[in-house]
Amino acid sequence: MPSEKVRKSRTEFEKREKIAARQRRDSKLPVPTGSPPRTTVIDVPELKSKIFAQRMEKLQQKLVAEQIEKAKMKSTIEAQEKIIGRLNEQLEDITSCSVCLQRYHATDRIPKMLSRCGHTICIECINRLHALLGYQGVKCPTCATITHTAIPDLLPKNYSVLPIDPI
Ligand SMILES: [Zn+2]
Ligand SMILES: [Zn+2]
Repeated sequence: MPSEKVRKSRTEFEKREKIAARQRRDSKLPVPTGSPPRTTVIDVPELKSKIFAQRMEKLQQKLVAEQIEKAKMKSTIEAQEKIIGRLNEQLEDITSCSVCLQRYHATDRIPKMLSRCGHTICIECINRLHALLGYQGVKCPTCATITHTAIPDLLPKNYSVLPIDPI
């Protein structure tokens, strides 16, 4: 038979054990605060990553659209530059004498039209070609048609082929 003292201390021990066990159990329980239910807690990061992914997708689409627009603009500019280049070449051809390749000038290198065929060359070249034909006419260097004239200075001027003054 255990003595009264031993029984008492055992009861005391059991009581302390019970309290300790409750404390251990309580410490494992979720903290009872005003935080949202567990399911919502898991959903928040998922939702955030969903929104993030949507934003990233939109941003990527925007970037792609911008790149396409840039490429379009670049190709348009390149095409326009090509056209301008070709026009400049043609303008250079039109505003230059096809024999001496010098640019026409209103007083120094006057463009003159050969009245028989309509082709235009500069007065300097006409004078040289005139001498070749014994000062009787000018043989067109483009189509070989002979415009008969004794005075090349009287041939019509063609000022429409004069170079345009730079703006
Ligand atoms: Zn010429
Ligand atoms: Zn001609």
